[in-house]
Amino acid sequence: MTPEEVLEIVLNSDELPTLSTVASRLISITAEEDTTISDIASLISKDISLSAKILKVVNSSFYSFPQQIGTIQQASSILGTNAVRSLVLSFSFLKPDQQSKDGFDYATFWEKSLFEAVASRMLMTAVEAEDSEEGFVAGLLQNLGVLILARAFPAEYKTVDQRVFEDDVDRCIAEKMAIGADHTYIASEVVKNWGFPDSLIEPLRFHHEPHKLRTTDSKLKQITEIVALSGILSTVYVAHKPDEVVSRFKLQAKRRLSITDKKLEDFLDRVHTEVEETAKFFDMTIINQKSVAEVLQIANAELSVLNLSYEQMNRSLVEKTVALEMLTVELEKKNKILEKLANVDGLTEAYNHRYFQNFLDREIKRADRNTYTLSVVMIDIDHFKKFNDTYGHQVGDYILRQFSDIARETLREYDLFARYGGEEFVMVLPETNAVDAETVAEKLRSIIASHTFENELETYHITASFGVADMTPSEDQFSKSDLIGFADEALYSAKKKGRNRVSVYAGKKKWFNR
Ligand code: GH3
Ligand code: MG
Ligand code: MG
Repeated sequence: MTPEEVLEIVLNSDELPTLSTVASRLISITAEEDTTISDIASLISKDISLSAKILKVVNSSFYSFPQQIGTIQQASSILGTNAVRSLVLSFSFLKPDQQSKDGFDYATFWEKSLFEAVASRMLMTAVEAEDSEEGFVAGLLQNLGVLILARAFPAEYKTVDQRVFEDDVDRCIAEKMAIGADHTYIASEVVKNWGFPDSLIEPLRFHHEPHKLRTTDSKLKQITEIVALSGILSTVYVAHKPDEVVSRFKLQAKRRLSITDKKLEDFLDRVHTEVEETAKFFDMTIINQKSVAEVLQIANAELSVLNLSYEQMNRSLVEKTVALEMLTVELEKKNKILEKLANVDGLTEAYNHRYFQNFLDREIKRADRNTYTLSVVMIDIDHFKKFNDTYGHQVGDYILRQFSDIARETLREYDLFARYGGEEFVMVLPETNAVDAETVAEKLRSIIASHTFENELETYHITASFGVADMTPSEDQFSKSDLIGFADEALYSAKKKGRNRVSVYAGKKKWFNR
């Protein structure tokens, strides 16, 4: 729709707010040059309830006149034509008890409008402008177009509100997109139709873009700027970032109105109490009107609460992660201990029988894959029964431990030394044939034979016998237990030949027969 089409619909709509007869008549007679104060007074006096309301306001702190004003005639001559007209218009629009319709919340709408009216009036006073009442009514009616559009296009206006609040879209743009005309155009055209003076039409038309108002009338320019500023400030109550609203308001107030900092601060301090006071004259109850400073404080506090809880959350998360990491480290340590307990012999700290068996399984598979030879060496300490009998079991245990240490020191890193059981040990030498294994065994044999074991009591000497067998899994057709058996046979042979020697299994290859 074009803006004109929208206007046409609005003007013919049953939903268009109507002016009271008195207000309507007042507008037309104030536009006539020969109208006197008496004419105005007698018009208003016809509406008893309106007259009572006006007298109540003019005698209140809102005006703080030194003397009691008893008649509308008196009020009109003291206030002047424009002020009286403004009061009548304000009363004719501010009907806060209107029931919400189609989701349009009149109470909130008029509460915001009242704030804008009071703020405009106060800013008019602060810059010492004439006719501060004009400011009041222009401020009050600046969003009349919102009310009109929302009533004429309720469904579309819900979309507008949504886009404004949720997507932060400019209200005028959202209105043009959803309906085809914005509230500044609609309101200014409607009041023009009602015969409103320019001093009220232009602020309604340009309060979103005051810089676009082309006029040489500085008063008109000023009132438009003021209405625009009141519109900015009123959003402080609903803004996500009220501090930005206040900053923008202050900056523009100083730039456009050349208002002093002191006056501006004074205005910001008082505006909410003035709104509360004024509400009383219009029989409005304002819910919890906060000062601008309070709104900013609350926003700040909310922000710091947010930050605080974020920090706290973060801290507890870090603590839990650290605790978890410590637990993991602890668990790994315990697992290692358990693993060790499962694989290592308690007396000698050499690998145990179980570990030897698993290791040999793995090595046979690996040797099979890589076609190499591995060797097993069985070791048995000579006449150990006699040794125990002579020196006691404890010394025997000590010898077993020492023997283990020496054997492990002698071997390469990837060779395995394990306790097979009792005073028998075993070595697995990967990638080593029997010839080389014999050399390794011989080296260990001679070290042991020449080693002097000693404790605080005595020195001891022992010897050991060795049986070597090898296997090339990719070629040989015998099992792991055969290999162990062959090594054992070789060991038996070493014992038989007089002990303290190395024997290589003879059954497999010719060079075994030595
Ligand atoms: P041989 O030269 O024929 O091997 O004679 P031996 O006495 O060493 O052989 P035998 O198998 O008859 O005796 C093994 C002895 O090893 C029996 C036992 O007293 C001793 N022995 C086995 N395990 C331990 C142990 O854990 N600690 C101690 N102190 N002695 C052990
Ligand atoms: Mg034995
Ligand atoms: Mg023995």
